[in-house]
Amino acid sequence: QYLSGSEIRALFLDFYAQRGHQILPSASLVPEDPTVLLTIAGMLPFKPIFLGQRTPEFKRATTSQKCIRTNDIENVGRTKRHQTFFEMLGNFSFGDYFKEQAIAWGWEISTKVFNFSKDNLVVSVFEDDDEAFNIWRDKIGVSVARIKRMGADDNFWASGATGPCGPCSEIYYDFYPERGEDNIDLEDDTRFIEFYNLVFMQYNRDAEGNLTPLANKNIDTGMGLERMAQILQRVPNNYETDLIFPIVKTAADIANIDYTTSDENTKVSLKVIGDHVRAVVHMIADEIRASNVGRGYVLRRLIRRVVRHGRLIGISGEFTTAVAETAISLSESAYPNLRQKEDAIKAELQREESNFLKTLERGEKLLEEAIAKLKEESKTQISGKSAFDLYDTYGFPLELTQEIALESSLTVDVAGFEAEMEIQKGRGRDAHETIDLTVQGSLDKLAEHISVTEFLGYTQPTATAKVE
Ligand code: ATP
Ligand code: MG
Ligand code: MG
Ligand code: MG
Repeated sequence: QYLSGSEIRALFLDFYAQRGHQILPSASLVPEDPTVLLTIAGMLPFKPIFLGQRTPEFKRATTSQKCIRTNDIENVGRTKRHQTFFEMLGNFSFGDYFKEQAIAWGWEISTKVFNFSKDNLVVSVFEDDDEAFNIWRDKIGVSVARIKRMGADDNFWASGATGPCGPCSEIYYDFYPERGEDNIDLEDDTRFIEFYNLVFMQYNRDAEGNLTPLANKNIDTGMGLERMAQILQRVPNNYETDLIFPIVKTAADIANIDYTTSDENTKVSLKVIGDHVRAVVHMIADEIRASNVGRGYVLRRLIRRVVRHGRLIGISGEFTTAVAETAISLSESAYPNLRQKEDAIKAELQREESNFLKTLERGEKLLEEAIAKLKEESKTQISGKSAFDLYDTYGFPLELTQEIALESSLTVDVAGFEAEMEIQKGRGRDAHETIDLTVQGSLDKLAEHISVTEFLGYTQPTATAKVE
């Protein structure tokens, strides 16, 4: 019998509790840290401790932290391993144990608790980190072929442009060890999946990019719960684990289709719904409400994507609250606040969905006509003006127009769209204010690039224009 998601979570927390870690509850998705829009990692609630701004109550802690990463929105349903919402298991040391102990326990829990064979594991270290390399080779006994040195993109971890950071070492699962050790390429996601990141949190990065050592050497780790479930439950992707699949199944039932026999696009839509409904249920429970700015806009965008993908798989009426019920019942034992906030969750979803459906119907019709006309004229790009009209009159976010355009192999003139936006605003604005928050769906990225005071300005609707 395979381990359930709940069992994996409990095994992780117990393992570290037995080693002197205090089990703490997941913090809210709304971080205290004003430089980040949503909680993107388990370390975020501990950032002031790492920076020496707060004295920890415990030297060691372990959590299962709910996270949202909007920068992964385009990966949702397309890679096997990314959602926007996921749970990150973590063990933390605040100036207590460091590299060698973190590596030893990371290996022990992987091989003794989750019973991964060492032949199925590959580790990475930051290219300059000989110390970590040597620990893996000499103390743990990993063969040199299975220790990969990687650059800063993968193996130097930071939660943002500034703040605590450090080199990291990651553990990957190898689904096909029989393919040999000569050509190990960790980018190959048909063979490998990253599941555990051990960060050696020892620097602070300032706005100029300078690194200064922190007063303490800390450990910050992250293990993806859904990825562990994928590996341990022997399913092809995170979406087919017991943590998400019942949500996918509910949506499929409403659409009267069968997930297993569906084509690839339909599966993507079902996975998008499975992920996003889970995300929005937790966001609303954490008091986020749909709006046109900041995290409220992230919520609105996720709900709209759910509705859109519902229509793509043939659902015509309202369906999000029914799917949300499955998401709530699936997670309520670990997150009792979901059931407590059930009414608010469903009311918010229902309101957003019905409003969006109305505009969607009108806008979709217009867009279809525009696309048909373009095709007649053998053109491949929707003009900035059309995209802007859809936005301005029908509340169509640019990325929605882009998504629909893509389905007909068309592009959208984004620069033209932005130019129309500028004309309408009729006033010049400085560089920060003209950053398009929606293009990459990565609001968190933006937060990384602007300072705290400027960021707070974004939460004031009067200070700047609408998010789009
Ligand atoms: P990847 O390279 O696969 O995008 P990452 O390096 O961005 O992952 P980390 O920042 O190291 O991820 O986060 C720690 C762990 O959290 C990862 O090893 C993974 O298990 C999990 N994780 C990260 N992003 C996601 C996501 N979008 N969906 C599910 N799990 C995730
Ligand atoms: Mg990533
Ligand atoms: Mg990575
Ligand atoms: Mg990583």
